[in-house]
Amino acid sequence: MSPAIELVGVEKSFGKTDAVAAVRGVDLTIADGEFFSLLGPSGCGKSTTLRMIAGFEDPTAGQIRLHGADVTDVPPHKRDVNMVFQNYALFPHLNVRDNIAFGLRRKKVRRAELDRRVGEIIDVVQLTGRERRMPRELSGGQQQRVALARALVNRPRALLLDEPLGALDLQLRQNMQIELKRIQREVGVTFVYVTHDQSEALTMSDRVAVMNNGLVEQCADPKSVYESPDTPFVAQFIGTSNLFSAPSTALAGDELVLDLNADERLLVPAPAGHAVGSPVTFTVRPEKITVLKDAPVVGSRLRGTVEEIVYLGVSTSYVVRTALLENVVVFEKNGPDSSLLSRGDAVWLTWPTENAHTFNPPET
Ligand code: ATP
Repeated sequence: MSPAIELVGVEKSFGKTDAVAAVRGVDLTIADGEFFSLLGPSGCGKSTTLRMIAGFEDPTAGQIRLHGADVTDVPPHKRDVNMVFQNYALFPHLNVRDNIAFGLRRKKVRRAELDRRVGEIIDVVQLTGRERRMPRELSGGQQQRVALARALVNRPRALLLDEPLGALDLQLRQNMQIELKRIQREVGVTFVYVTHDQSEALTMSDRVAVMNNGLVEQCADPKSVYESPDTPFVAQFIGTSNLFSAPSTALAGDELVLDLNADERLLVPAPAGHAVGSPVTFTVRPEKITVLKDAPVVGSRLRGTVEEIVYLGVSTSYVVRTALLENVVVFEKNGPDSSLLSRGDAVWLTWPTENAHTFNPPET
């Protein structure tokens, strides 16, 4: 079966002189029925990418295929996709049912089928009993469900969502994330979801494309982007990460040794093709680091001073100043074995070698 959506070498520049390269060459393959997110900071090109899939923007170069067919030059209303926006764009003078039925009426769908389809989708988005309400009588979350139902009732093969939960408060947004995932699973439609919120993308998606500066830096499942980031940018953007860099001093089996001075030594898995003596860039997640009062005898040991202690309930977050990296963040689960540390304490940091994630040297 053809993939639902394919982007091949897609580029987009705005303006003729001083052109802004919003998307600089994106290749993506999105499977049928997948919940796929485009994730990245403001201005990275995710909305432009989504709008090109919808047909609202024409690519400057490249090709867009929907279910195997080239749609690069096909207008939006002839593409079998629908889009949901952050501001819902409901018709204020129509009630819930009529808002949802609007598209079917325009297509002149027969009454019996219209009733059945609208009823089914109202059930899926759990608005049964609220069919006669006007948009102003609904909460933000309920309005978003109407917008979703209105887009899904036409049975598009893919639904494109641009920050659809952006206007909701945190609690409601978290509830709607779980709801959206359930709805997507129930209807089985391909969802392409744009967000700058990494926890939102990780919660809902089968796969995530992390974008930066008009390019996809990594496209993988949530666990892989968190645990095996391809680039320092991905490591920093997804969750909290400590990014270190220092020259290696020796190779010991499949580990690199980084002797910083007579006392401090770091060990990392050797990246392919590394030349001893050149810098190694690696990240360690805060929850993988242990804070000790005494220098460990084996493994990595980095000297530091406790600068900040923040109690977070289940865990405590420490900021430790080191010579190699000014602020090293450490998360420690709270429990009977928790470290009893104070600001200003001299400490040692260590972590299992396999939890240091190295990056291959940039291609030159
Ligand atoms: P945000 O989350 O802030 O919407 P984004 O990742 O979705 O960001 P885009 O909206 O795709 O980013 O914008 C990418 C770049 O293209 C930005 O530099 C933006 O200013 C520029 N851009 C987007 N639309 C236009 C336009 N119509 N004309 C000129 N420049 C544009």
